[in-house]
Amino acid sequence: MPFPYEAPVSQTLFDRAAVVTPGGVNSPVRAFRAVGGSPRFMVSGTGPYLTDADGREYVDLVCSWGPMILGHAHPEVIAAVQEAVARGTSFGTPGAGEVELAEQIVDRIDPVEQVRLVSSGTEATMSAIRLARGFTGRAKVVKFAGCYHGHVDALLAAAGSGVATLGLPDTPGVTGAQAGDTIVLPYNDIEAVRAAFAAHPGEIACVITEASPGNMGIVPPLPGFNQGLKDLCAENGALYISDEVMTGFRVSRTGWYGIDGVRPDLMTFGKVMGGGFPAAAFGGRADVMAHLAPVGPVYQAGTLSGNPVATAAGVAQLRLLDQAAYEKVDAVSAELRALVADAFTKAGVAHRLQVAGNMFSVFFTDQDVTDYDKAKAQEAFRFTAFFHSMLSQGVYLPPSAFESWFVSTAHDERAIERIAAALPSAARAAAEATA
Ligand code: PLP
Repeated sequence: MPFPYEAPVSQTLFDRAAVVTPGGVNSPVRAFRAVGGSPRFMVSGTGPYLTDADGREYVDLVCSWGPMILGHAHPEVIAAVQEAVARGTSFGTPGAGEVELAEQIVDRIDPVEQVRLVSSGTEATMSAIRLARGFTGRAKVVKFAGCYHGHVDALLAAAGSGVATLGLPDTPGVTGAQAGDTIVLPYNDIEAVRAAFAAHPGEIACVITEASPGNMGIVPPLPGFNQGLKDLCAENGALYISDEVMTGFRVSRTGWYGIDGVRPDLMTFGKVMGGGFPAAAFGGRADVMAHLAPVGPVYQAGTLSGNPVATAAGVAQLRLLDQAAYEKVDAVSAELRALVADAFTKAGVAHRLQVAGNMFSVFFTDQDVTDYDKAKAQEAFRFTAFFHSMLSQGVYLPPSAFESWFVSTAHDERAIERIAAALPSAARAAAEATA
């Protein structure tokens, strides 16, 4: 496998990292295992660009896996952070910033009557599940194969993201009891959900789904699927949890809820709402949220929850995300998708470009991808060749065929021209790749 661009400083850092950290990374997909080669260690980001430790600049199509929707180091977000940091970094008391951030979320997302702030998407989904179990007094959770909800024990079965990227089986370390209460169903199969409710009457606490999955590549819900989930939950006394950690505040001002209008009982958020800092949230129906401590009996807490610096970044970012900002991100995404599709078509590469709002990904197949099995059936080896060609030409893609690509308001014509210039030879590399 040729890796045409050598990055000696990154390589040295990676070698050092591998001594003190498993695999040299703090989150598995970053290690480039799915595509081979060594990861680039980034030292700075400005607008749509990242610069690595070897001084090389890349157009960034990862955007920190979603959060950097305004591009890197947006001056107004940085100013808000600097102002907050100068006042102190953590108090362990309530603060004004967390009220503002919660108000912004409640104001934007109609089904969210109350919200609790946490520090990661994993914490948000973990807490939402606990709350659903506490509220319903039931144990079982329905999730879908290929959906990733963070590394929550009960939700790792058949998960997407790194679990898909690395082809891992259900992970060791999760006990039979934890996994035993999880029912994993094929995505987009409403009859399977109906059958699960029939097989487990009165036992299912909740159905959790990515609002529009982005962790097995982009696999949007078929028309009526989310509404079907909501209806089945309502009929069976279970809660419908929509995980908008990835789509929330990204695919529209009101996330995927703003696109399909299906009203969840609980929702989870992260990524964009933290402006690049660890801030996430779960929220929804006030009567359900009233079961949380200190009002109700379901315990949930966090030393750094509602951190003043993170909330300042989140508030600043959400304030800047007006309708015009979403129109810009949508336009960048559409322009880029047209270029990508054109390059693959010209190179004769069978592909499906799948879209959810301004998020998209490419599957190397001639079939529409509607579930995890179909996602895994793609010719992922073509992505490896494509990825390395793009990387060597200064375009930073997610290092996995099973991840969404992300763009920002900062992706201007210069950045898009650089991507356009790299695409034809990368598409030819994909065409010529062999398994
Ligand atoms: N839910 C979804 C849909 C995600 O995409 C992710 C992360 O990619 C998570 C939850 C977990 O979030 P975090 O990585 O902040 O724990």
